[in-house]
Amino acid sequence: MPFWPQPYESTTSHWQQTNRGPTSLWNHGHDAPLPKEADYVIVGAGVTGVSLAYHLTRPGAAGEGKSVVILDAKDVGSGASGRNGGHVSPRSFMYLSELWAPLEHGGGGLSMEQAVQAWFFELDNLNYIERLVKAEGLDVDFWRGERYEVFTSPEKAAHTRRAYEEFKAAIAKTQYADRHLPWTVVDDPAKAKELSRNDRALALNIGPAGSWHPHRGVTALLRLALASKSSECSFFSWCPVQSFTRDGEGWALDCGPRSVICGREVILATNAYTRHLFPDDTSGLKDHIVPTFAQAGRVVPPASYAGACALDHTYAVELGPYLIQTPHSGLVLGPYIDVLEKRGIHTRDQVFYQDDDSKVTEGVRQWLQSYCKDDFTGWGDEAQGEGLVHHWSGILAMSLDAQPLVGPVPDHPGLWLAAGYNGHGMAMIVNMTRSFARHLQTGQWDSYMPAHYAITPERLARAQKHADKLK
Ligand SMILES: Cc1cc2nc3c(=O)[nH]c(=O)nc-3n(C[C@H](O)[C@H](O)[C@H](O)COP(=O)(O)OP(=O)(O)OC[C@H]3O[C@@H](n4cnc5c(N)ncnc54)[C@H](O)[C@@H]3O)c2cc1C
Repeated sequence: MPFWPQPYESTTSHWQQTNRGPTSLWNHGHDAPLPKEADYVIVGAGVTGVSLAYHLTRPGAAGEGKSVVILDAKDVGSGASGRNGGHVSPRSFMYLSELWAPLEHGGGGLSMEQAVQAWFFELDNLNYIERLVKAEGLDVDFWRGERYEVFTSPEKAAHTRRAYEEFKAAIAKTQYADRHLPWTVVDDPAKAKELSRNDRALALNIGPAGSWHPHRGVTALLRLALASKSSECSFFSWCPVQSFTRDGEGWALDCGPRSVICGREVILATNAYTRHLFPDDTSGLKDHIVPTFAQAGRVVPPASYAGACALDHTYAVELGPYLIQTPHSGLVLGPYIDVLEKRGIHTRDQVFYQDDDSKVTEGVRQWLQSYCKDDFTGWGDEAQGEGLVHHWSGILAMSLDAQPLVGPVPDHPGLWLAAGYNGHGMAMIVNMTRSFARHLQTGQWDSYMPAHYAITPERLARAQKHADKLK
């Protein structure tokens, strides 16, 4: 049975709810006839697909004088990109050791140099989005500030200073030795409590962070691509690609009742849904990207945490969720998958290999409902209309080796893929698609982009040995 159309109605996120006006692109190209061919066909209109389209359609880029067609099975930003927590934040240095831990121990299996490069790539992504939002004048609620990473257990609190020293020592041995490290560690519990407004805090790290309205973000980038004067760009929503076959030097995409379109170069920006396009794959690609059920919620703070008393950092709390502020609508909280498992709220099989975003779960609702009241000092009572007012789900893509898969698909000339960001795509994708567009132009891997993102037969085979990792 074909995967598309989905037999259920997805939940609606806060971001999708608040981007419905005439400047949104809902149903764009829904009824328009599909062209028979295009130079570039991008499948998927999440942040990967639309930011790639944006970069491809700039003057002088690979798409200059060419046709660029974007297809989505549903609407723009209908996947993870329109349903996430809105956090645009590079990973904490606490996470680096997981990147260089061996695959067999659940890590990313990277060298130290590779892990550090990936870390700076994410920091650059935040800087780049900030510049891009300013340069293009995008009205997407972009916020730039800092994140508190709060530790509440004595073990983690004691570990953070040590991890920071290890991180600095690791960087000193790499080509990034001269770069400024924008992190501070606060390991005085009284100071940590005061800063975080959390009485359980024993230590915290302060590092770079950002956020934006992700649905307005992807819509704005798509609008810029469609308005390009140097490329001919078009978008067709509600146009699922059911399968693809080789066609001359390109690929023919079967879009069911919407007919067939042939692309000279075809880029799959299909993230968690990629495996449905590779039903017979034996290379390991299909199994490498694991659809994963995730949830987020919006909390309206009471007056005790509004106005001059509002939180002014994003957060990631040990055994808690991550959290951002919206300019006018309160907080968005996203639970980490491993935290839900540790707290016994979800089992692994409720989360991994799941692609139904039409439901939310009661355990997560209850936890998000009480989280702020329980953790933030003096939060107080919530009136009707305050507290958790909305809760939704989305499907993100884990990859077996904890790294995204980017670039040409082995043994498929003219077929490209970018997917598998492990619930962290906002932190890297826009920078990545800038490099991806350069690759499409030159035919060469852009050396600025971490080389370990590339999809190689060796990488797929290596990860396949750990195919049970998320089962
Ligand atoms: C609840 C939740 C919270 C998250 N929070 C954060 C966060 O705070 N920070 C962060 O960095 N990351 C977060 N993420 C992850 C982040 O949202 C993703 O990494 C990112 O959005 C991936 O973008 P994408 O464009 O690759 O995928 P998607 O946005 O999923 O886009 C893929 C698109 O492809 C389309 N598609 C798929 N198959 C086909 C087909 N066959 N034919 C046509 N179209 C197709 C889909 O309809 C979809 O629109 C979160 C994810 C979720 C679900």
